[in-house]
Amino acid sequence: MTSAVDTVVIGGGPAGSVCAARLAQRGRSVVLLEKTTFPRFHLGESLLPQSMPVLEALGVLDAVRARFMAKYGARFHDDVTGRTDRFPFANAWRPDVDHAFQVPRDAFDHLLLERARTCGADVRERWKVSSILREGTRAVGVVAEDPDGNAHAIAARYVVDATGRDALTAHAAAATDKIEGLDQTALFAHFEGVPRAAGTARGDIDIVLFRDDAAARPNWFWFIPFEDGRTSVGAVVSRAWIRAGASDPQALFDRAVASSKTATAMLASARMLWPRAQATADFSYRVRDLVGDGCVAVGDAGGFIDPLFSTGAHLAMCGGFRAADALDDVLAGADELPRLRAWEADVRSAAETFVLAVQAFYAGPLVDYLFAEQKHDVLRRSITSLLAGDVFHDAVWLRDARRRLTEMSTPP
Ligand SMILES: Cc1cc2nc3c(=O)[nH]c(=O)nc-3n(C[C@H](O)[C@H](O)[C@H](O)COP(=O)(O)OP(=O)(O)OC[C@H]3O[C@@H](n4cnc5c(N)ncnc54)[C@H](O)[C@@H]3O)c2cc1C
Repeated sequence: MTSAVDTVVIGGGPAGSVCAARLAQRGRSVVLLEKTTFPRFHLGESLLPQSMPVLEALGVLDAVRARFMAKYGARFHDDVTGRTDRFPFANAWRPDVDHAFQVPRDAFDHLLLERARTCGADVRERWKVSSILREGTRAVGVVAEDPDGNAHAIAARYVVDATGRDALTAHAAAATDKIEGLDQTALFAHFEGVPRAAGTARGDIDIVLFRDDAAARPNWFWFIPFEDGRTSVGAVVSRAWIRAGASDPQALFDRAVASSKTATAMLASARMLWPRAQATADFSYRVRDLVGDGCVAVGDAGGFIDPLFSTGAHLAMCGGFRAADALDDVLAGADELPRLRAWEADVRSAAETFVLAVQAFYAGPLVDYLFAEQKHDVLRRSITSLLAGDVFHDAVWLRDARRRLTEMSTPP
């Protein structure tokens, strides 16, 4: 076994690449192991404005701006009532960052991975981690297979699990808890020829709610426009809705489109670019402990939330960035457990705000607020700030929003 590096990061998605890049920027030795070869397809194509400071700190914001579609707002449509509303990020409580980007993830993740490399991380693709090395309970590195199938032990002072929904460490310890009521399935494909809004609304995400009647639990579509003319389209539907029909992803996707007059209109002259629509179950789950002995879990490896508010990549990048700072502090001599637990509390509180918002949406009350015709300015700003991902700090509006969302998501 070689001498220990400061950190080994498992997984090169946004959480792992950002964490590795930041650690390397701060002078730490990092090995990042990614089991695939980039670029590779991934879901999660709509970013949030409050991730932009992370991209800026890593020195990639200009490259992102040059390549991807700017997203200045989010538009919601309710098929049943015909209501529609737009939330421009400039109306958020903190309008300092008024846009994000819509990113095909093959290109975006590749950019971040390359950034980790140029910052100084030892990035190895086609290296698959099979297990965590331990001395007693403490993680002291990983065992990984190289591209030729040879096993290697890599020693590290800290291990970062950024394996996405594979959640290597949490699944090995059976430490995930399903979040009840959020067991949706997504049916998705890329299209060309989907109509676009004009001006700064051109890059908005469109969220289209569809359901049998206004009282039913909503299913929904995402429409995410890319700079090159493609649009990512996905339907997120409940298990009950799936059970009522055929199980083939394409047939389900077609049924979802047929159930939504807005989606039908948006796709009327569009062409699907894939041979068939794909499906993935996106059960939301929590991981009990993000901090283990000698290791942390970041991004989806530390929990997954229904994608309604496009929060996954945001939590992955902000959480990974902050994990790097916490690990750097610990490597510099800070007390390990208090520092890592403070990071965990920070990330957990941000994620739980979105869990509440998603639950309040499916329970119904948040839908009414989203489409209320006369929105009080405070309400509009708070919803916009949530949509912008402004959840990593303590503010009066955020505490108030959490309280209201808790009330909305709790059955009477
Ligand atoms: C239907 C759907 C729609 C979504 N829409 C959005 C959206 O619009 N906006 C948004 O922000 N998020 C969205 N998300 C969420 C988003 O996809 C994730 O939250 C985000 O990709 C998490 O990043 P990550 O780095 O934690 O994990 P990932 O991006 O999954 O990266 C994990 C990496 O780890 C690698 N890996 C796994 N196991 C190993 C191993 N043993 N050894 C080495 N490497 C390994 C994988 O190959 C992968 O590259 C969506 C998710 C779903 C399911």
